[in-house]
Amino acid sequence: FPTDDDYQSFDDIDLSPLMRRAVARAGFTKPSPIQGSLIPLALEGVDVIGQARTGTGKTAAFSIPILEQLDSLEDCRDPQAIIVVPTRELADQVGRELERLAFGVPTEIAVLAGGKNINRQLRQLQNGVQVVVGTPGRLHDHLQRKSLRTDKVWCVVLDEADRMLDIGFRPQIERILRRCPRQRQTLLLSATLPPAVQRLAKSYMIDPQIIDCCQKEVAVETIEQRYFTVAQDQKGELLRRLLKREDPEQAIIFCRTKRGTDRLYRQLSRDFDKCGSMHGDMQQRERDRVLQKLRDGNLRILVATDVVGRGIDISTISHIINYDLPQDSDDYVHRVGRTGRMGRDGIAFTFVVPGEGEMLTSIEQRINRELIRDQIEGYDA
Ligand code: ADP
Ligand code: MG
Repeated sequence: FPTDDDYQSFDDIDLSPLMRRAVARAGFTKPSPIQGSLIPLALEGVDVIGQARTGTGKTAAFSIPILEQLDSLEDCRDPQAIIVVPTRELADQVGRELERLAFGVPTEIAVLAGGKNINRQLRQLQNGVQVVVGTPGRLHDHLQRKSLRTDKVWCVVLDEADRMLDIGFRPQIERILRRCPRQRQTLLLSATLPPAVQRLAKSYMIDPQIIDCCQKEVAVETIEQRYFTVAQDQKGELLRRLLKREDPEQAIIFCRTKRGTDRLYRQLSRDFDKCGSMHGDMQQRERDRVLQKLRDGNLRILVATDVVGRGIDISTISHIINYDLPQDSDDYVHRVGRTGRMGRDGIAFTFVVPGEGEMLTSIEQRINRELIRDQIEGYDA
């Protein structure tokens, strides 16, 4: 299958005139590699496991074939496609990308995310829905209430599929898949799809085709990647110095824990303005407000847990700082992938405490690249 820039224009893909117009309106001039490979294949109805780097348009790659093949609401009032994503914010974002690509064609899209008013979602489902985007917990909830009908579903997408098939989400995902017709299309997407996940995934799919647009290289080339060695108790001061040196347009600073996130946010907001924080214990309204401020450019520094580690697409994010190391090298790939979207530049810094060298090595092996050692005088451990 084509994995590189085989398609120079969306005209090379067999799309309806309406979809061509929507794509042009979205400002897309040529398909990204994953789009060039996945869209034609998905239109054939086959199952696909697709791997492509962060920020290369995986959302549109699965959204376009779904929108192209939807029956109108008059013909079918029950959901025809279900897209499952790991976080509420990502569900909103995917819902918006769908709306944008449905431009000009009335399309009922329901975002069924946790933390949101369920009665509104129930009403929306009652009124008829063509596409559902949701988080595993809330989708499962709707299945149990029998408010989400699945007998007309012909496509299921697991975005961030490796995360979706993690032990934490797997039971819910399995229940969702079991409830959907066997004769359906299943699409799995992620920037990271370890062999074990692909093997597991195949048990939910029928003869899946594999698209690999990473070609052994999971890291985005346009993201510069550096590290600091620093003593644990010097991290805060190093961060302040680094932020002053870099003066980022927008930065996400990743912490390991919710408490650590709160603490660092409180410290930073004394010295820097336009700071915000986000983690899973915050009220959903507050989470939404903070992310909106970031999208609007009204936040410059976001201190967060891995809740924003995957999928979030904000083109103005210039800097990623791993204040604490990620859990594993795949999480590293996703965190740094919040910058350098769609060919843009970005820079990522990782703080490494003495004794954490092994994780640094495993990251370097995963991305097949050495991180550049950086230093700020007086803060080098
Ligand atoms: P991924 O899921 O691969 O990380 P996204 O689907 O979030 O990437 O897309 C990244 C950004 O690129 C989004 O803002 C999206 O609207 C934009 N985009 C998608 N396809 C194209 C294209 N063909 N040309 C230009 N921009 C695109
Ligand atoms: Mg994505």
